Amino acid sequence: IRGTIALVGRPNVGKSTIFNRLIGQRKSIVEDTPGVTRDRIYGILDWLTLQYRLIDTGGIQIEDQPFSEEINMQVEIAIEEANVIVMIVSAKEGITSDDVAIARKLKKSNKPIILAVNKADNESLRMNIYEFYELGLGDPIPISGAHGLGLGDLMDIAVKDM
Ligand code: GDP
Ligand code: MG
Repeated sequence: IRGTIALVGRPNVGKSTIFNRLIGQRKSIVEDTPGVTRDRIYGILDWLTLQYRLIDTGGIQIEDQPFSEEINMQVEIAIEEANVIVMIVSAKEGITSDDVAIARKLKKSNKPIILAVNKADNESLRMNIYEFYELGLGDPIPISGAHGLGLGDLMDIAVKDM
């Protein structure tokens, strides 16, 4: 395994859709800490003859915690375990306050962060990527997990410095 890539983002941006498309299958439980469920969040991704570990942090559920705490924990686990973090946002919904909070937390880490704008299914939705420059995470990469668009470009960028 060459390295670990974590998918981070608020609920419903499409993390699991992207994860499953990149992995090509569902994976089962790898590890459980009491109160923390990590079912089906780790997968192995084959990319250009090399293998990477992919984490869908949205699958990390912490019992009895408010939503904001759960997201905080997901971001912390991503920062801890990943070599590269892919933050996912949505071209359909645009920037939300949760996106801003997650981006702020990620920027405090020293990990490379890539910003992927999912649900950029067509030309007009792809025009929505520009507002995400505001997050301060560099160039937003348009992708569509549902249609399999842009995932190759995203992976090339993610593995470049691993
Ligand atoms: P997660 O909560 O971040 O893991 O998001 P999911 O993968 O569960 O997806 C949330 C919703 O967004 C589902 O209804 C998906 O079908 C939808 N979705 C995911 N990717 C795309 C996409 O590229 N385009 C569109 N239009 N919908 C998508
Ligand atoms: Mg999910």
